[in-house]
Amino acid sequence: MTIDEDVREISPYFQVRQTTWGGRACFSSGNIPKGTIVLQVAHFTGSSISYEFRKEVCHNCFAYDNARTMKYKLNYDSVKNLIHGADCQINSKKFLGAGLWFCSEYCRDCYLQIPNIIELIEFYEILLRHFPNMLKRYNTIPEQETKFNSISISESIIQSAWDEIEINWIPRIDNMKATKKINKLPPISEDEYCCIRFVCESLFNLKHMDPHSITQRTFNTLQSNELGKISRFPVLLHFQKLVFQTLYILLPSHLHKMLTIPLLRHILGTEYGNAFGVWQEGEAAESREYFGYWVFPEASYFNHSCNPNVTKYRKGNSMLFKLNKDIKNNEQICIDYSGVLNLPTKKRRKFLADSWFFDCACERCNSELQSVH
Ligand SMILES: [Zn+2]
Ligand SMILES: [Zn+2]
Repeated sequence: MTIDEDVREISPYFQVRQTTWGGRACFSSGNIPKGTIVLQVAHFTGSSISYEFRKEVCHNCFAYDNARTMKYKLNYDSVKNLIHGADCQINSKKFLGAGLWFCSEYCRDCYLQIPNIIELIEFYEILLRHFPNMLKRYNTIPEQETKFNSISISESIIQSAWDEIEINWIPRIDNMKATKKINKLPPISEDEYCCIRFVCESLFNLKHMDPHSITQRTFNTLQSNELGKISRFPVLLHFQKLVFQTLYILLPSHLHKMLTIPLLRHILGTEYGNAFGVWQEGEAAESREYFGYWVFPEASYFNHSCNPNVTKYRKGNSMLFKLNKDIKNNEQICIDYSGVLNLPTKKRRKFLADSWFFDCACERCNSELQSVH
């Protein structure tokens, strides 16, 4: 059975089908030679560059220059033409650059040409302005984290945490004056800061994306790993609430409309397990830097194999998926999720189970497990 007639158009080289063993998988549409790029994606719903690399990685092409700060920052002159209407909270005297750095004028211009991008820049700028105060109040006591991690998680615990926000917290905030709301901003760390930007970029992209586009449709059907991930790291539930609260208080109206609890939970729940790493280009796997992560819904149907027939790599702001061997018609197309294929069987399988919540049943694992016994 072919699922979602919809997703057929992802690539002419494979179909996405429901499998007899559960879940979806990609099957080749013919005999395809090694070297073929079976998928190239450039539309991510959200991306996140980690805090330590925020000035060193280009926010358009993800270039990196050996820890040097990118030469081009966003300045007021470059955004002033985009500001329409009096309600934009960007002003010339205090503009901090929205935390956006670029490798070249060209990349900065490309970024500024994204339709409606000022909405995203405005929020980044507001967040950047408030972040130092929020960070100062952040509680780094390890006991705090231990406390949050000792909560036992179930579907209903997660639901009641969000009900509490919906029923008690939101109405309280809605009744406050703007200046008082700001006092309710939670303390956050660099990790929350990056995640808040990731969620905001996702809201922005989803808002302006054609609702019938393949990216939007596949995003809607992505599998959420919320329960699995939060059960393993209960502190994430607290983390998600801080992300929501910050967005709720600081988002200007045009993006605020997009922020709902179910959508935030889908964005974060599907990021767990579906995000790809943003890795340094042109370096060997062992020595390259990890800059952050991004989500490409169309590339989320590939299953994992410890002997994958597709190699994935980044080229600028695209991800490419290239066959590393000839494949036959109807063969399953798989990638490596882990980056740890050199590990011995047990360690590799444990890593996969811990990070992606499945027991790998690929051919290589099966044959290696048999030879262990
Ligand atoms: Zn660039
Ligand atoms: Zn395996």
